[in-house]
Amino acid sequence: MEFLRPASWDEALAAKAAHPDAVPIAGGTDVMVELNFDRGRPAALLDLTRISTLTEWGSDGDHMRVGAGVTYQRIITELGSVLPGLAMASRSVGSPQIRNRGTVGGNLGSASPAGDAHPPLLAGDAIVELASVRGVRQVPVADFFTGPKRSVAEPDELISAFLLAPASGPEQFSKVGTRNAMVISVCSFAIALHPWQRKVGTGIGSAAPTPRRAFEAEEMLAVELSWERPVALTEAVERRFGDLVAAAASPIDDVRGTAAYRRQALSVLARRTLRWAWDAYRTEPAR
Ligand SMILES: Cc1cc2nc3c(=O)[nH]c(=O)nc-3n(C[C@H](O)[C@H](O)[C@H](O)COP(=O)(O)OP(=O)(O)OC[C@H]3O[C@@H](n4cnc5c(N)ncnc54)[C@H](O)[C@@H]3O)c2cc1C
Repeated sequence: MEFLRPASWDEALAAKAAHPDAVPIAGGTDVMVELNFDRGRPAALLDLTRISTLTEWGSDGDHMRVGAGVTYQRIITELGSVLPGLAMASRSVGSPQIRNRGTVGGNLGSASPAGDAHPPLLAGDAIVELASVRGVRQVPVADFFTGPKRSVAEPDELISAFLLAPASGPEQFSKVGTRNAMVISVCSFAIALHPWQRKVGTGIGSAAPTPRRAFEAEEMLAVELSWERPVALTEAVERRFGDLVAAAASPIDDVRGTAAYRRQALSVLARRTLRWAWDAYRTEPAR
């Protein structure tokens, strides 16, 4: 197996153009598992760990631009107050070792329906930045996933960064697993309240072929929430939201849970995270 070690971003893009079948490796927490289990033997690995620009973040207009190589641990410690939903999801990933190595770029690269970074990225309307020697393009994260472990990224493209607006209101993330830590989500859910736009964002994980938003639930809630004079939510609104989120999913039965369980658990996660977010909004309406 060839091991390509570009020292700069331009070299990395040139290497990917010359070797489109090369598998990029960042933290290696997915790639090395695949190799160790002999699930595939790529012709070449493209090591991205020497590309310092991938590990940088900063503000870019209305968004934070976070390099694909920023680890979960750094999202938690350096961006926790700006991107709280993503930081919550990051805290739930693996173990300290995995959070120190694993990156959001790698989560997007794997494009697993169970990736925990995806629901908060969907709820926050994030943009994925893809680059190649042909140029750079930006893809809304809702359009990025095309199937289980598949995305719109072309063979010669690398993920350079994602763009996500700083939270303008409360955000929440919650997941169900077969134990408390070191577990692939049975299902997960993220919500973001966007008070200035009177909008709600959602993200469903592990309950459809791709991570996805619950559009009808978002629209219903945006109208029902009393943004100006935030009063307690009625049970009817909570329940309707939970039902619409569950209806947006299309889960399967597998070793981690049945489809019926996933729908039920999702509606509970949706109601619970909504209540947490709305209660926070009632005490601190907008940022
Ligand atoms: C013990 C254990 C526990 C885990 N727990 C969780 C969990 O709780 N939640 C969760 O979501 N995941 C979990 N994972 C999976 C994994 O840690 C995450 O998916 C992580 O985000 C992968 O990041 P990485 O940097 O290690 O990616 P890598 O393994 O380096 O790469 C992953 C994929 O992305 C591609 N890739 C990486 N960087 C780029 C780039 N810049 N451009 C294009 N493609 C790229 C690679 O080619 C590969 O296909 C766990 C893994 C292990 C081993």
